[in-house]
Amino acid sequence: LTFLGIESSCDDTAAAVVRLHGTTPEVLSSVVEGQTALHAAFGGVVPEIAARAHAERLDGCVEQALSLAGLDLSHLDGIAVTAGPGLIGGVLSGVMLAKGLAAATGLPMVGVNHLAGHGLTPRLTDGLAFPYLLLLVSGGHCQFLIVKSATEFQRLGGTIDDAPGEAFDKTAKLLGLPQPGGPVVEAEAALGDARRFQFPRPLLDRPGCDMSFSGLKTALLRTRDAVIAEKGGITLQDRRDMCAGFQLAVAEVLAEKTRRAVQIYLDLAPSSAVLAVAGGVAANQALRGRLEAVSAQLGLGFVAPPLRLCTDNAAMIAWAGIELFQAGQRDGFDLQARPRWPLDQNAPAMIGSGK
Ligand code: ATP
Ligand code: FE
Repeated sequence: LTFLGIESSCDDTAAAVVRLHGTTPEVLSSVVEGQTALHAAFGGVVPEIAARAHAERLDGCVEQALSLAGLDLSHLDGIAVTAGPGLIGGVLSGVMLAKGLAAATGLPMVGVNHLAGHGLTPRLTDGLAFPYLLLLVSGGHCQFLIVKSATEFQRLGGTIDDAPGEAFDKTAKLLGLPQPGGPVVEAEAALGDARRFQFPRPLLDRPGCDMSFSGLKTALLRTRDAVIAEKGGITLQDRRDMCAGFQLAVAEVLAEKTRRAVQIYLDLAPSSAVLAVAGGVAANQALRGRLEAVSAQLGLGFVAPPLRLCTDNAAMIAWAGIELFQAGQRDGFDLQARPRWPLDQNAPAMIGSGK
């Protein structure tokens, strides 16, 4: 089974080809064209600019993904496309391209939830069996989910305001660092003293695994302004120390809430003890190390996909497409692009879910 994947829900234009040999998946190609430079002057992703760039670049990405895989459209068994959630202009570009390709080739088309793409990645990379506990931590989302099948996700808790990725990006912005903030803040943090500035660890006093990250950016702003007021500016070392303190606060909150999510999970699914992480923020090495340690302490297995499959890519969409196709999903030309699309339809709507 060989699927083309198409991803265009935020600021990465991506196409990939994934093949399933028996029960073993293989990523034959994965092309990701970022748009960092296009949005740099605006301090964040501008939806109109993103949509236009996706429309211009998607064809080329698909051609490149096919040629790197050494295939053409006739070798495919299906087309998977991100149908949401995300910036609607970009999602529409991808969905329209998929419909065009499906119409021209007669291939089946599968609309994929971008978050399911992140969430099923540990099965692509490590062949993880259902069920598993997933911490999905990305630019727009942060939640603990029990992944029961390719179509069943049970939300145990998550952020009640910002996602950690957003907080990393805002931290970078406040400190005059480039976007996306995650990798830059991580690099600066590695050279800083995490104990010099104190940042809050919200909701640790509350039971359950809900989290809050919006207070962190306010705290960072205050700390930055206090340093500027005291010394007339911030030095390189001040910046590194702030990044380190911020990252440690995020890591400690995620680690503690993971402990609680594991308790809830083990009560519900005692036989399967694996924690998987996915999403852009799961590319953070300090965080991965911390969560791996928590898993080891609690006697759980730990799975974290390689960095390039944590941040946005189309291999995860092709793979989720294969899984959904095997579960019987086929979409028609009425497939809709959805700006919002929770993974667990039964969970209460996310408050301020970011994107
Ligand atoms: P979502 O998946 O929630 O719809 P998205 O697709 O925009 O949002 P991803 O690509 O999954 O987000 O993740 C991007 C986010 O991950 C950005 O906020 C970025 O700063 C963050 N990120 C990437 N690398 C790292 C890192 N090494 N450390 C921390 N954060 C990181
Ligand atoms: Fe994403």
